[in-house]
Amino acid sequence: MDTCSSDDMMSWFEELAMNAGSVQNETLKRILEMNHGVEYLEQWLGDVDVHDMDAEALQSLYRSVVPLASHADLDPYIQRIAEGETTPLLTKQPITTLSLSSGTTEGRQKYVPYTSHSSKTTLQTFKLAAAYRSRVYPTKEGGKILEFIYGSKQFKTKGRLSVGTATTHYFASPEFKLKQQQTKSFTCSPHEVIFSGDYKQSTYCHFLLGLFYSPQVEFITSTFAYGIVQALALFEDYWREICNDLYNGTLSPRITIPGIRASVLGLIKPNPCLATWVSSQCAELEGSGWCGLISKMWPNAKYVYSIMTGSMQPYLEKLRHYSGDHLPLVSVEYGSTESWIGVNMDPSSAFENVTFTVVPTFSYFEFIPLHRPLSDAVVGAGGATCDDYIEDDPVPLSDVKIGQQYEIVLTTFTGLYRYRLGDVVEVAGFYQRSPKLKFLCRRKLILTINIDKNTENDLQLAVQKGSQPLINSGAELVDFTSHADTKNQPGHYVIYWEIKGEVNEHVLARCCKEMDAAFVDHGYVVSRKTNSIGPLELCIVERGTFRKIMEHFIGNGATMSQFKTPRCTSNKVLLKILSLCTVKRFRSTAYK
Ligand code: AMP
Repeated sequence: MDTCSSDDMMSWFEELAMNAGSVQNETLKRILEMNHGVEYLEQWLGDVDVHDMDAEALQSLYRSVVPLASHADLDPYIQRIAEGETTPLLTKQPITTLSLSSGTTEGRQKYVPYTSHSSKTTLQTFKLAAAYRSRVYPTKEGGKILEFIYGSKQFKTKGRLSVGTATTHYFASPEFKLKQQQTKSFTCSPHEVIFSGDYKQSTYCHFLLGLFYSPQVEFITSTFAYGIVQALALFEDYWREICNDLYNGTLSPRITIPGIRASVLGLIKPNPCLATWVSSQCAELEGSGWCGLISKMWPNAKYVYSIMTGSMQPYLEKLRHYSGDHLPLVSVEYGSTESWIGVNMDPSSAFENVTFTVVPTFSYFEFIPLHRPLSDAVVGAGGATCDDYIEDDPVPLSDVKIGQQYEIVLTTFTGLYRYRLGDVVEVAGFYQRSPKLKFLCRRKLILTINIDKNTENDLQLAVQKGSQPLINSGAELVDFTSHADTKNQPGHYVIYWEIKGEVNEHVLARCCKEMDAAFVDHGYVVSRKTNSIGPLELCIVERGTFRKIMEHFIGNGATMSQFKTPRCTSNKVLLKILSLCTVKRFRSTAYK
């Protein structure tokens, strides 16, 4: 597998997908055999001889005796591992590394066990995805990739386990180097740039090297689309200095970390011709609001490659603006710190049609069927913790139905058993017998005051609708978040917007009203009509506020590579930043 060609990878996957159901049973059997006797599983499978059982019977027993779990259920075990306990708690193989999930979706970072299996599946995912991409968008062997990737700070727990984000572990792993050799495309930036620990210095050097190697750059990528948009916003400020460095083969004093300076200066050489060309292009692009910047600067790039689905959709308009109309935007695979899930087999599909075909060897997957209730009768009182779905019993991968929505449950090689991931997906079809999943949203409700129930996706749609007047007037919505204010009665939604461009106050007042009307959830509509939820509040924050929020997260151990703006927050520090940066407030008055 490690030295497979693209064709081998596709045949390997074809075979797995054809037998997805039985491959899943075998995958579960392997996980349980490897971890037989660990403390967590002993509670339910203590006297079961997993080695002798048939895979089908084992999966049915497993699903009937081991309960569904949340991160909170497994956390006490993970904490004991972090403290250095060496008895087998979740896995037989000792865990020496923990990943820190980005935590930017839930507002709290979580520890997740990381093993060499995690890097191995990352390599398999990238190679498989590269095989499908190269059928549609062939790239030159030996070309370069401009990758906006960043290692996060790493630290040790009390028990001396290394902690860092999953992407950080991967960039530091031998598999990352292997991926470059085997896919024959090499990242422009050396290790020192990726691991500088200062995202601005790294970004500057990613650009400098990306431009230095510009004719060889075959594609541009970051984990999440946000990463590229954020980097290009910095390029608007840095380009003159970068051109100066390109011209002279020097490095701006803004780069202060000795390791980065030495490694970058060892790579670049003066290139006055290229620098003069880049500089004249940038001067022109600055006048046009940087439209088509990517295709101008990297004329041989075949596509931009990043996670474009889910919470990344609000950044796509900006990304399209930067990339130009003709450069394809290709959606990256679907995975999480906990496990890889599926690959995008059809790289040319528009982001709204992107699906991820489950790779049945990565983990054992189950699916909880979800139904949205028609009335609010089933919803518990108390708001914040109530859920917006009715759920059925989980089904195995072989029993999922097209058109049905599900929450994903994982049993992983890294010691998570029947673990609720919290992502909502819809089955859009099948490749052979493996489901193709459309990512919908995080399951957790984010905006709820009483009987109202809005997910991240509902908020995203309301913001999209409500921002139309702003966009029609030529301004841009840079980023947004929200807060359910229950301190003041009646409680109400507060939506924070950072905008770029001049906008008349009447336009913003209209946006506020339209956004209020755009929440179509029955509970919200009823509550607004009876005034048990007050008028929506739109707060405009000053430019740079969301960058400050990102920097706050990065300062606390998150990485740019995995950063996602929290779409709803009750975090005191964030609310303070948002409140201090609010420059205008609007309240939607009359309702419908
Ligand atoms: P992390 O906490 O950094 O591990 O983020 C993992 C989460 O990012 C997943 O559980 C999803 O909610 C989201 N995610 C990952 N890949 C995709 C994708 N291709 N499309 C949409 N959302 C994704």
